[in-house]
Amino acid sequence: MKHCTAIALAGGQGRRMGTNIQKQYLDISGKPLLYYSLHVFEESEIIDDIVLVVGEGQEEYVRKEIVDRYGFTKVVGIVEGGKERYDSVWAGLQAVQVLQNSHFGTEEPEENYVFIHDSARPFVTEAILERAYGKVRECKACVVGMPSKDTVKLVDEHVFAKETPDRNYVWIIQTPQVFDTSLIFEAYSRLMREKCIQVTDDAMVVEQMMRLPVKMVEGSYENIKITTPEDLDIAEVFVKRGREKS
Ligand code: C5P
Repeated sequence: MKHCTAIALAGGQGRRMGTNIQKQYLDISGKPLLYYSLHVFEESEIIDDIVLVVGEGQEEYVRKEIVDRYGFTKVVGIVEGGKERYDSVWAGLQAVQVLQNSHFGTEEPEENYVFIHDSARPFVTEAILERAYGKVRECKACVVGMPSKDTVKLVDEHVFAKETPDRNYVWIIQTPQVFDTSLIFEAYSRLMREKCIQVTDDAMVVEQMMRLPVKMVEGSYENIKITTPEDLDIAEVFVKRGREKS
């Protein structure tokens, strides 16, 4: 038996957007940003259920205005996130564990995976989920990303260029980041106990806490993260194009 859970992260403040409304609720072509990735998971043949991580005190709002309103039946849990992204991931993972313990008991699925996704990336697709699912079954840990189109410089504290990594080896990281459920749970348990690294993505936690290599999976250049106001204009274009195609 296989089981795949999506952890949809929507617990951030979105400060770089510069609006009063938190960015996950901002309107893109008539629907809230959070709707888009949830819709992909809801329709997916791979994802079995969804745990949604939201900001403090927003559980009821999200249940009513997003989950019930758009009929997302795969959402099995809505939990409050934390201060940093990794706190929110940890809240999501703990919820997954509680839900799975009560659902499966001792009959844990042989293949059990979590897809950790930034809901600020509305343009994840079923094809991306399929590629990631294929890879995680081989490697236990994979992250979606794309080769960098730009040259990347590492700079020193005075913002002088220090190093230029060979572009052939530079990938830009996206989400979902996909893991064997017990592996990522153990990695995060260690992180939360030791709090010894600066965490910016989930792959880092597995690399450093479990010493396990993480495989890259091709995402898409459209799988952008909505961060600053100009990203909203780009998102409108992508949604419009998607509607014209279908
Ligand atoms: O801030 P940033 O855009 O990098 O956040 C990436 C994703 O992580 C977003 O979907 C955001 O809602 C989520 N997040 C979270 N809890 C936090 C910080 C970010 O769920 N404390």
